[in-house]
Amino acid sequence: MSYVEFERVSKYFGNAGGAPVLDALSLGVEKGEFVTLLGPSGCGKSTLLRCVAGLTEIDEGRVRLDGVDLTNMAPKKRNVGMVFQSYALFPNMTVYDNVAFGLKMKGMARAEIERTVKRMLEIIDMSEKSGQYPHRLSGGQQQRVALARSLAVQPKLMMMDEPLSALDAKIRKMLRVEIRRIQQELGMTTLFVTHDQEEALTMSDRICIMNQGRIEQTGTPEEIYARPKTAFVARFIGNYN
Ligand code: ADP
Ligand code: MG
Repeated sequence: MSYVEFERVSKYFGNAGGAPVLDALSLGVEKGEFVTLLGPSGCGKSTLLRCVAGLTEIDEGRVRLDGVDLTNMAPKKRNVGMVFQSYALFPNMTVYDNVAFGLKMKGMARAEIERTVKRMLEIIDMSEKSGQYPHRLSGGQQQRVALARSLAVQPKLMMMDEPLSALDAKIRKMLRVEIRRIQQELGMTTLFVTHDQEEALTMSDRICIMNQGRIEQTGTPEEIYARPKTAFVARFIGNYN
């Protein structure tokens, strides 16, 4: 069994008889793997992440993490972290307090919180900004803090929903490299969502091409690029050969 297991997950949004948003989707993600869900807008990427986080209930199927069935578990108990496109930091808290917040919630001792936050700020290269408020930071810096905040609680699975989409091209490229470095340094199992082909091809251990609530093809970036299995994949990845 894989570390993360999606077993025929389906989701319908109200409209009985309508096309499902997630259509009996199955996928396994291994521990420490960086897997990207790549697909056009509306194909169900965000919905899939929301189902894992417990922000949306699934209608059929199962989701397991490290052997534990998440399907009916309270969101707070699921041990997953999520970073969104918009940074959603607490505006009235410093960088330090933003990263410390989840640790305080968990009841971690003060000295351990300090140690953890310090390490996280080092990892994202923001130690100097510890006392700053979010509005004083650039978009890229805010997104790094959001990442540190999610990582600090040591989730078993990190999920990122288009975390770079709101940033300009230069910062985006830098953060691609940085996110991957941090992910590998921590051995963090990651589900990354994007509609950007280049992002997926440069960052991932494995790519899942999604189309209308299903996975059309999964493989390494090289496999997907060199051997697209369907016309949709070939078109989407921009390789018509
Ligand atoms: P993606 O993230 O790949 O762009 P989404 O998962 O956001 O796609 O959406 C997939 C489909 O589900 C879209 O057609 C969207 O309109 C629909 N959808 C998403 N959330 C809801 C909701 N809360 N109620 C009804 N339909 C929704
Ligand atoms: Mg989305």
